[in-house]
Amino acid sequence: MSTCASLPDASSSVLLCPHGPRLTLQSPLPVSPGSAWPSPLLDTRHPFTPSDAQRQLATFFDALFAAHGPQRWWPGRTRFEIIAGAILVQNTAWTNAARAIANLRAASLLTPSAIEKVSPARLARLIRPSGYFRQKARKLKAFARFLRESHRGSLARMFRTPTAQLREQLLQVHGIGPETADSILLYAGNHPVFVVDAYTRRILLRHGLAHGKESYETVRGLFEQSLPNDPRLFNEYHALIVHTGKHHCRNRAPVCSTCALRPFLPQPVEGSR
Ligand code: SF4
Repeated sequence: MSTCASLPDASSSVLLCPHGPRLTLQSPLPVSPGSAWPSPLLDTRHPFTPSDAQRQLATFFDALFAAHGPQRWWPGRTRFEIIAGAILVQNTAWTNAARAIANLRAASLLTPSAIEKVSPARLARLIRPSGYFRQKARKLKAFARFLRESHRGSLARMFRTPTAQLREQLLQVHGIGPETADSILLYAGNHPVFVVDAYTRRILLRHGLAHGKESYETVRGLFEQSLPNDPRLFNEYHALIVHTGKHHCRNRAPVCSTCALRPFLPQPVEGSR
């Protein structure tokens, strides 16, 4: 494993380490006051300043990558499979979504046109392992219809749309919220957006970088404005956060003692081991 050390210096910018997606701070990151930073970080009662948060997020990434290495996300064979997975994993564990995807693959339904043609009842039956299967069948069909109507059925054409514009379009599709839209943009389209989930919020909260009531957009902005605008970095970082959330930063009884972020914990978490 490579050994790129981060230099958490206030006069630095963030670069991708040539040995891997490590962060090294070497010159100032732009910090635009006002809208650029989420309010908790500008709150004078809060212990962190924006530049503290920038350094913290870069340092967290270094520590997580050093501990766990590349996560090789997203586990999908095609872009449409990744999109289907982003919808099917809503409100369930990945293992359940994976079973639904396996059923769709076995039925040769992992294409947008096949999803549009199959009957809603059959589609729902096939994706039953993912839970909320009738709603998710509607969502998959809604995405396939959107793709045909707005992008002539072409994912390549869809992903050529500028990031902000495509994000707005995706958010208009039935069943696609911010986390799903950003997962599609990042993992299927390689667009530079940061995916925020419950694990992200929990880690920020426990490390004093957020109050816990910030909007999705605020947390996304924190990451995107603190880090280089690089989809490879956002890809790896979110995957490492999910790994940490699953194995260490659990809701109850977090396992801080063996967590790579333990050295940066401002105070012990209640009930932690
Ligand atoms: S498990 Fe503990 S050390 Fe690890 S991220 Fe959560 S709060 Fe931080």
